[in-house]
Amino acid sequence: MSRFLAFSLLIFSLAWSTASTAREAETAPVSATAEAMPPPPDWLGALDALYDARVRVADLEDRTFSPEHWWAVAGPLATAARGFRTEELGRSAEGRPLRHVWWGRGGKRVLLWSQMHGDESTASMALADLFRFLGEHPGHPIVRRLRKSTALHFLPVMNPDGAVRFQRRNAQGIDVNRDARALASPEARALHALRERLKPAFGFNLHDQQVGYRAGDSGNGTAIALLAPAFNEARDVDASRARAIEIAVAIRAVLEPYIGGHIARWDDTFNPRAFGDLTARAGVSTVLIESGGIQGDPHKQRLRKLNFLALVGALDAIASGAHAGLPRARYDELPENGEVWPDLLVAGGALALPGQPQARVDLLIDFAHPLLERGGTIADIGDLADVRARRTIDATGLYIVPFDPPGAALRQSPRTLAPDTPAYFHLSRDPRGRDVVWTLAGDVDPTKPEPASGY
Ligand SMILES: [Zn+2]
Repeated sequence: MSRFLAFSLLIFSLAWSTASTAREAETAPVSATAEAMPPPPDWLGALDALYDARVRVADLEDRTFSPEHWWAVAGPLATAARGFRTEELGRSAEGRPLRHVWWGRGGKRVLLWSQMHGDESTASMALADLFRFLGEHPGHPIVRRLRKSTALHFLPVMNPDGAVRFQRRNAQGIDVNRDARALASPEARALHALRERLKPAFGFNLHDQQVGYRAGDSGNGTAIALLAPAFNEARDVDASRARAIEIAVAIRAVLEPYIGGHIARWDDTFNPRAFGDLTARAGVSTVLIESGGIQGDPHKQRLRKLNFLALVGALDAIASGAHAGLPRARYDELPENGEVWPDLLVAGGALALPGQPQARVDLLIDFAHPLLERGGTIADIGDLADVRARRTIDATGLYIVPFDPPGAALRQSPRTLAPDTPAYFHLSRDPRGRDVVWTLAGDVDPTKPEPASGY
């Protein structure tokens, strides 16, 4: 456990006990106590430390892994000797295996599926970690509770053709999460058939969302968004959805010490084509976990760990029944996902193009890989003083000097910057680019993310 977390937990529990004492001194505000945010589980600090030492699976540090690589890493962790069973459910559009893995002898059936969108790999990494935790730590009290009370069913990396291209859709171009009704894709059919066969009590729909999302109208990026999906247009809350909301509160209790203020709620408009919604309609208490972004976590390794801890918290609450009665208000009060902030604003430079007057402009850049800041294109140019971006570089006093991308077929004369073109320019103290202090060549150089201070 990091010192920071230990400190956070300490502060959190001190605040908690102080608040409890204060309440006891007053006259019986019983309902307020019942509605309070539940404290983090008492095992959290120890499991956090165990994760770093003996749970995190090696060789999944690059989030663009192929499905074959994921199975080469995770498959050996899920053997019969460790209590796992595996079957092939079917094949993807391009013939890659769709495998169902299960573990546990209990009566509470849980179905978890990941990477329905091929470029949303965070939870798949966490599921490999979960396999290792379940298989290598059979005496751990949580593992014992889970084994006794739950049967965990996994459909990991369920869009392998999308994963191999690191793209959202499957090989046929179908968005599998808009195919829950039509079942046109083999991937959707596999998940649907498995759910119909198992009739699980709980479902976990594991995704990644755009990293630019803010939590409500705060400037905080959403690290994780949660949703207990609606099962009808009226967005009613029946007993099954109420259970899903309790599980979401249990997850929030785990995450709050790490990313408080960066947890959001996904919009619960009913979508009759989406798996979460239709799984909820089938009577399964379903929770959507969307991993967003944390600045400085380009391969989502921190988010991977938070996914693992969140899933363990949720599953343990299911096993023990401790979710019962957790206050819905602590779910409802989560801010919804708000604005999506663009990736990078270069503010206040002077555009220097040969033969043209200099112009003071701001530049907005979006990246194909926002956390890695790779594949930049110009999103806008001009007066962007009102725009808020995930990151801002102050270019006051510098010239913006565009240059041609390598291999550009036709050299522009002069080279200009226009929306939807690749972002290639220098920031220079000299209008002809002779005294360069920073360069964006499509990708940000990770060793020099911004001009040195005092350039
Ligand atoms: Zn998704």
